[in-house]
Order: sequence, then C-alpha cells, then structure tokens
Amino acid sequence: MDPDCLFCNIVSGNIPSTEVYRDDRVMAFLDIVPAAPEHILVIPAQHLTFLRTADESHETLIGHMALMADRIASERGIRDSGYRLTVNQGPDAGQQVDHLHMHLLGGQKLGGVA
Ligand code: AMP
Ligand code: ZN
Repeated sequence: MDPDCLFCNIVSGNIPSTEVYRDDRVMAFLDIVPAAPEHILVIPAQHLTFLRTADESHETLIGHMALMADRIASERGIRDSGYRLTVNQGPDAGQQVDHLHMHLLGGQKLGGVA
C-alpha cells in the first residue's frame, strides 16, 4: 500500500468507490468519469505501478485481472455483446493513475482503439 496512491486508498476504503468485485488479489469499481455505459476499473489489490515494473512473479496476478474482468463482463451482461479491456501505460496513452489498472468498457458499440 502506497499512502499517496489514489487506487491504494480505494482498495483500503479510505476513498469511497462503487465496488463491483473484490477478492484477495483484485478489486474492481466503477470509473468516476465513464467513457461508456459500462466502464469498470480492474486493479491489483497490491500497489503495482507499471507493467515495466512487473516481473514473472506478477504473471498470475495480471492473468487473474484479465479473467476477473471477463467474469465481471459476464455478470454485468456485456460479455456476449462484447467489451474492450485496455491498459494505459505512460504519457502517450494518457495514463493518469500510477497504479496498474485495466479499463473494462462496454454497453455500446465502441469507437476505434486509438
Ligand atoms: P488512466 O488514464 O488509464 O490512468 O485511467 C485512470 C482512470 O481513473 C480514469 O478513467 C479516471 O476517470 C478514473 N478515476 C480517477 N479517479 C477516480 C476515482 N476516485 N474513482 C473512480 N475512478 C477514478
Ligand atoms: Zn497503489
């Protein structure tokens, strides 16, 4: 836990969120500025900043994030209609929060990837 990290504070409950999923490794909550009818952020419970700081010990965790995103998509009724799972890394991607997160987007026909 990094006390200065927004998403660590969401995991700990210090900052409120609309939680949609949690287990011992992963948490998911609604994005505060939704870019689609369904916009959920899936994050590791532990403070992990960028993929470049991850190593083999994080492979299972990152895979678990993707599988839980798919499960959440199913629970929220957007698995069959389709969804997008996006990871922004660094300035050109517009990354705002330095705690790894997957954007789960769906609920409408989505635009181009860039
Ligand atoms: P990124 O640009 O990939 O770093 O995405 C960060 C996301 O976090 C943005 O889509 C923001 O809308 C979202 N966000 C920022 N603060 C909060 C918050 N307090 N609760 C939920 N989502 C947030
Ligand atoms: Zn963090």
